Amino acid sequence: MVVPSKDYNRIVVKIGSSLLVDRKSGLKRDWLSSLADDIASLRRVGTEVLVVSSGAIALGRRLLELSSGALKLEESQAAAAVGQIELSRAYSEALGKHDLTAGQVLLTFGDTEQRRRYLNARETVSTLLKMGAIPIVNENDTVATSEIRYGDNDRLAARVATMIGADLLVLLSDVDGLYTAAPGTSLSAQFVEVVGRITPDIEAMAGDAGTELSRGGMVTKIEAGKIATAAGTAMVIASGKDIHALRHLFQKDGRATWFKPHENPVTARKKWISGQIDVSGSLSIDNGAYAALVNGKSLLPAGVKRVDGEFSRGDVIAVKSMDGTKVGCGLVAYDHEDAASIAGCKSAEIEKVLGYAGRSAMIHRDNLVLHGSHHLVEEHDA
Ligand code: GLU
Repeated sequence: MVVPSKDYNRIVVKIGSSLLVDRKSGLKRDWLSSLADDIASLRRVGTEVLVVSSGAIALGRRLLELSSGALKLEESQAAAAVGQIELSRAYSEALGKHDLTAGQVLLTFGDTEQRRRYLNARETVSTLLKMGAIPIVNENDTVATSEIRYGDNDRLAARVATMIGADLLVLLSDVDGLYTAAPGTSLSAQFVEVVGRITPDIEAMAGDAGTELSRGGMVTKIEAGKIATAAGTAMVIASGKDIHALRHLFQKDGRATWFKPHENPVTARKKWISGQIDVSGSLSIDNGAYAALVNGKSLLPAGVKRVDGEFSRGDVIAVKSMDGTKVGCGLVAYDHEDAASIAGCKSAEIEKVLGYAGRSAMIHRDNLVLHGSHHLVEEHDA
């Protein structure tokens, strides 16, 4: 596969734990030094680079000499505290040899999922890039608890890539790309070089390719691909096992799976909406309402047949067809109780039902992102 000739201006590179940390010998300094060389080469041609690096927990558990096997939450939080400081120092030293300055950014789930905090994080990271520093991002594992964490750096990296409008997200790990079936389980498994669109067939190809050191398998990589490509960011999955993996990806026409970005990326606001990782509820709508949405209209209460989950006004929720297929998502104008009360009502009846004059739309079209599946339209027409 020939690497697309387009010059990338802003690249996010996600590094999997197993590339950086060896269970016995610890931090792989030669590997990190080759990565720093590659980053320096990209910077020299004017490409901005942001690194999302895993490895804090893996490194910390080695430094603390914890036994192998699953860690309790508080143990992995402690391991992250020890590992992260070492990881940052190693990046800072490796990049420093090229006169590059590293800036540590630790994010928690809410930093990308809550709009105000998202704008704040975006500002900080953009300023770091403007100043010529290399942001080294990780999840703030020491304070993240299980219910409110990304848990894997693939999706975190995709959120960060879309947040800063990167044109490419590179996922370097110990897997070299996507196969039509899990390699090893099927003799007919074939390597996929280019994915034009992440369809259910592509999702079905993602077996669980996770390793002991990292949480993210192919499933989270495909999830990351959905977030990135919908926002106009291309993504590539490549093996980072050899040194200079990044350089080889661009120069050597190496083995990798490329995911093409959508051609009509949504606006910045809609990017944020469509990339939301956890949605708190859903509205199920009838075919007439779906057809109206496809024609660019807002979602009115009249077309809503079911309300599920618990959500507040302003939350991002899913929009589903009656068979349960997710057709989009958007910022809802009512909390779940009020939404249930006015579901099926005409907009003119809202005041009478709720006792106050609310918005006429349940989800305004400016706050709505459709997944753009023509397949559904055909099904409904049939
Ligand atoms: N944030 C975790 C760490 O640095 C890694 C998560 C992942 O493996 O995706 O150890």
